[in-house]
Amino acid sequence: MALVSMNTLMQKALAGRYAVGYFEAWNMESILAVTDAAEKTQSPVIIGFGGQFIGSKKRTITENIHHYGQLGKAIAETVNVPVALLLNEAHEVDMLLKGMDSGFNAVMFEGHDISMEEFIRINRQLVKIAKGRDVCVEAEVGKLPDADIASDSISDGKKTDPDEAAFFVKQTGIDALAVSVGNVHLLETGKAAIDFALIKELRKKINIPLVLHGGTGVAEEELKEAVALGMCKVNVGTSLKRAYLNSIQEYLNNNNVSKMDPHNVIGRGGNMDMLCAAREAVAKEVERFIKIIGSENKA
Ligand SMILES: [Zn+2]
Repeated sequence: MALVSMNTLMQKALAGRYAVGYFEAWNMESILAVTDAAEKTQSPVIIGFGGQFIGSKKRTITENIHHYGQLGKAIAETVNVPVALLLNEAHEVDMLLKGMDSGFNAVMFEGHDISMEEFIRINRQLVKIAKGRDVCVEAEVGKLPDADIASDSISDGKKTDPDEAAFFVKQTGIDALAVSVGNVHLLETGKAAIDFALIKELRKKINIPLVLHGGTGVAEEELKEAVALGMCKVNVGTSLKRAYLNSIQEYLNNNNVSKMDPHNVIGRGGNMDMLCAAREAVAKEVERFIKIIGSENKA
């Protein structure tokens, strides 16, 4: 079906006391894995890509955001559940504008290294452009800490201040607010301590949908509790990449691919196809989160 507004998906979730998941993809198999799981569970879903990864300065090959937007849009249009398409956490406004041209119907600018005044100015400008095109804008006030698995450490973050967030929402007119309430980006080892009192306070002061990033690092019961308190969008990325990597590692450990027909390993799609197995592993993980956040059978 045609793309559905992310706002519509979040409002329905809020009314139905569940959350809709944003499952961040990075290539063809991973984005298809998300819609595989959504169709299997008859769940609405937000698909998309991370702007900070697609536009990363570390990339050795420059990516064209148009390819990603068109791919996501084409997939959304051919599945039988409601889908929104988000360009998440891009550091450049230019990429977000190109993203809107390429099919994304939701965007999020990340600007933790600029002043609040500048952050408001940019989001206000994005909202102005987005409104005329039926595109939703998400922004984060406060800052999630980042986990680093190599050093087993977590950086400093800043919890969302409810008054500052309310001011920001009023000044910008954004559609969804990502909040820092103990959740941690990239966290796999250990679980984040969610500040439920802060969620309650934010819900009282903020009249737009609230978003919980860092879904991977939140324990199942805490995730359910956060959703029950009105968190209506949950972002999951890290655990999907982990599932994909684990699947490929297991395959390579168990098979001597140098003695195998490469078409059977990648491309033919049979039961020996490594990328199909990885896609299935990601879909399984998406399905697990869909069940936790309660969006199953809400399509
Ligand atoms: Zn995030």
